[in-house]
Amino acid sequence: MLTIGCHLSSAKGYAAMAKEAEKINANTFQFFTRNPRGGKAKAIDPKDVEKFHSEADRLGIQKILAHAPYTLNACSPDEKVREFAYNTMADDLKRMEYTPGNCYNFHPGSHVKQGVEKGIELIAELLNHILKPEQSTTVLLETMAGKGSEIGRNFQELREILDRVELQDKIGVCLDTCHIYDGGYDIVNDLDGVLKEFDQVIGLSRLKAVHLNDSMYGLNSHKDRHAKIGEGKIGKEAMIRIVNHPVLKELPFYLETPNDLEGYGAEIAFLHSVRQES
Ligand code: FE
Ligand code: FE
Ligand code: ZN
Repeated sequence: MLTIGCHLSSAKGYAAMAKEAEKINANTFQFFTRNPRGGKAKAIDPKDVEKFHSEADRLGIQKILAHAPYTLNACSPDEKVREFAYNTMADDLKRMEYTPGNCYNFHPGSHVKQGVEKGIELIAELLNHILKPEQSTTVLLETMAGKGSEIGRNFQELREILDRVELQDKIGVCLDTCHIYDGGYDIVNDLDGVLKEFDQVIGLSRLKAVHLNDSMYGLNSHKDRHAKIGEGKIGKEAMIRIVNHPVLKELPFYLETPNDLEGYGAEIAFLHSVRQES
């Protein structure tokens, strides 16, 4: 079964997101835990969560993915910014326990002239302070396009972070198709080779989610500009191969394409139509 959804606004709560998912035939979704530019999160309403759980059961929504705010930078040279990252992620993970057993995705961070090694150290340090044995959430490092001084622009950098994390069963990876194509991994002409490399460097058991996006710019462009499915440089045929690839097909796919709800619905319908169930 294809598990697919898109990014939805969390402004009206969990039950409202389930309703939106239903409208577009999505069986999962992604959402920001709070304003993507940062700030305080709205208090969780247990009644809303209860309603969400019954809606999720009814609709067959299995996995949902939370996304940390963009302003979260675990490896900023500014201690205040790192403190914000720590407080935000710690608070988000507490909130995630209202919807246990899901994943929380974050951008590893930008090292801003400190160098990749220092950045990796700081990210691992933060994770080792935050991850708790009792949490039910898996935290995911997102593969990045390599814009500016972003960490996670190749599989090796993510592997180096993973290696330093103490609670290994609490950490995984989310693969963003736009980002890795931007980062120089040719998923158009050699999807098998890229996934083999992912397995060798990171390990496929780490892969928990896919951000399914086309890319406005070409291979190795490091631009991070998402395009609608089939309207970018990755293209329709490669997208069809991605949602049907034996290594990926059982993972949840999340669209982060420039769309309104109706546009997302059309992409979901298209991807269902090209999915080969064996
Ligand atoms: Fe992201
Ligand atoms: Fe993404
Ligand atoms: Zn992106």
